[in-house]
Amino acid sequence: MQNFDEGSRKPRGLGTRLVHAGRRPDEQFGFINTPIYRGSTVLHPNARSLETRDVPYVYGTKGTPTIRALEEAWTELSGAAGTVLTPSGLAAITVAILSVVKAGDHILVPDSAYRPTRIFCDGVLKRLGVETEYYDPLLGGGIAALMRARTSLVLTEAPGSQSFEMQDIPAIAQAAHAEGALVAMDNTWATPIFFPPHERGVDLAIEAGTKYLGGHSDLLLGLVSANARAFPALRETFDAMAMCAGPEDAFLALRGMRTMSLRLKEAEARGLALAAWLEQRPEVSQVLHPALPSHPGHAIWKRDFLGSTGLFSVILKPYPKKAVAAFLDGLELFGLGYSWGGYESLVIPFDCSSYRTATRWEPGGPALRFQVGLEDMDDLKADIEAGFARLAAAS
Ligand SMILES: *Cc1c(COP(=O)(O)O)cnc(C)c1O
Repeated sequence: MQNFDEGSRKPRGLGTRLVHAGRRPDEQFGFINTPIYRGSTVLHPNARSLETRDVPYVYGTKGTPTIRALEEAWTELSGAAGTVLTPSGLAAITVAILSVVKAGDHILVPDSAYRPTRIFCDGVLKRLGVETEYYDPLLGGGIAALMRARTSLVLTEAPGSQSFEMQDIPAIAQAAHAEGALVAMDNTWATPIFFPPHERGVDLAIEAGTKYLGGHSDLLLGLVSANARAFPALRETFDAMAMCAGPEDAFLALRGMRTMSLRLKEAEARGLALAAWLEQRPEVSQVLHPALPSHPGHAIWKRDFLGSTGLFSVILKPYPKKAVAAFLDGLELFGLGYSWGGYESLVIPFDCSSYRTATRWEPGGPALRFQVGLEDMDDLKADIEAGFARLAAAS
């Protein structure tokens, strides 16, 4: 029989780990993939087992073989001490934060954070007596000046949601740890494949598995991996709230994981190709893609990241709103919709100016966020070119 990696401590390449992590064919009649276990009750063998809970599975909310397989695989991929799976990416963010904070704490959140994260901080966290202070995502080690005695958590996200600011995660982690605070990162864009979070100083790494892990826009899932310092409280908080993921979503995510490195490499190549093409267009004033040399955060990206993905933004020249609507409304291949990381191309207009508080969002023109899918690149360019013609005609 094959060696299923259990007990083998040889360093293995990324592709090998993605293929083998979290699999137990020997426990399921040789079948390669862990099936979908649905269930609440787990029968215990005797009275003693009910008391000691000395069994692999206790109850459905605490994990099933499907859930455990993905937890283990993600822990290995992330270089973490452990992982919990949540029903959405946003749930992963909220459970990670709640595993750290208590009433009276102060937390630091980048002004460029995923907007629903702000809504959670400004609503639920405030009600629980936790103060959120938004900071300039480009502060780097300068964040030391914002640390207070009661600062328990520094949240990061790189690149920033929609606006793609590149944060200096190692410098922020060093400053936060010096004051005894933990560091969480929303790592959805790069995934652990292109940014190994715990190696770079992150204690709690969040991934919206809804995006590249799933890869097909057919599931909702969140993952939080944590190092040894942060994992016990994360697991305890997760268990207390029973914020568990669905078994079918976990199965699909495991399936997605096996091909994730191939899909990400393709997303990277396509994202760069479309971004570079857009950068040359007369309708475009700026492309916000950290892997382009023109991006202000390019040096940090090059130092800390192992790759880039297929999501980036574009600032147009100052066209009127109705012209942007004409661009969007006639698109045949780019769908208008939220989320990303699937096989199809998407675009959304965005404007951060109404809710950012620590920085100003004044890009000088309308902003669009693109997700590049697997359609032929010439077809995608033709779709955008026709859109630019409508943009000019409606101006
Ligand atoms: C989509 C997204 C999330 C939330 O994921 P859901 O599964 O949609 O809740 C969190 N962070 C980032 C950066 C995202 O893009």
